[in-house]
Amino acid sequence: MIADNLHKIKQDIQDSCALVHREPKEVTLVAVTKSVGVAQTKELIDAGVAHCAENRVDKLLEKKQKLLNYSETKWHLIGNLQRRKVKLIVNEIDYFHALDSLTLAEEIQKRLVKQLACFVEVNVSGEATKHGISPDEVLPFLESLAAYSKIKVVGLMTMAPKEASAEQIRNVFGTLRELRDLVQSRHYTHAPCTELSMGMSQDFQLAIEEGATFIRVGTALFKDEEEE
Ligand SMILES: *Cc1c(COP(=O)(O)O)cnc(C)c1O
Repeated sequence: MIADNLHKIKQDIQDSCALVHREPKEVTLVAVTKSVGVAQTKELIDAGVAHCAENRVDKLLEKKQKLLNYSETKWHLIGNLQRRKVKLIVNEIDYFHALDSLTLAEEIQKRLVKQLACFVEVNVSGEATKHGISPDEVLPFLESLAAYSKIKVVGLMTMAPKEASAEQIRNVFGTLRELRDLVQSRHYTHAPCTELSMGMSQDFQLAIEEGATFIRVGTALFKDEEEE
């Protein structure tokens, strides 16, 4: 089942890339395993997924601990990170997708042993319930991050609004791409900002058409699977 879902998603990635003349290898599939257990996560990795993501610190650590034989797997923390949990997690992950404050950056800097690839989360749609900085804050925030030598800003991340038309979602993703291009044009050494983390099960095809390089897909990989 999981292998079938994965196959279908890979096909969709190829189709979306073809529409806009991109290469499928430019898009990294990050499997969001937050709704499943270790067995299904293993099944997914065995089927060829190289990147896994969790939104909770405790769950990520627990899974990683149970998957010690899968040392090649890259781990992404995609959810909001509380300051007091920073020290537990920052040296255990390969990517952090939700950097949105300088106090958090300061704590991450303090606890990191080596550099960490981070995405700055931007609240493009402006919904009050969403995390992330506003689009106007992106450049000043990025400039301030130069003070934290262990934080490497590899890109920007956003979440599309849930109840929105395809056009509205496309707009959100397009805006994030323009912000990324703006940051890139500044050639900050601490923030190459080449990547765009956007698109989930419902909207990853639109995200790819708008330039996503990391898509975060959960439910679509596990549909028709039993909960453990
Ligand atoms: C849960 C989650 C996803 C995956 O969502 P699906 O709709 O299950 O694909 C992606 N990004 C973040 C930040 C999430 O919390």
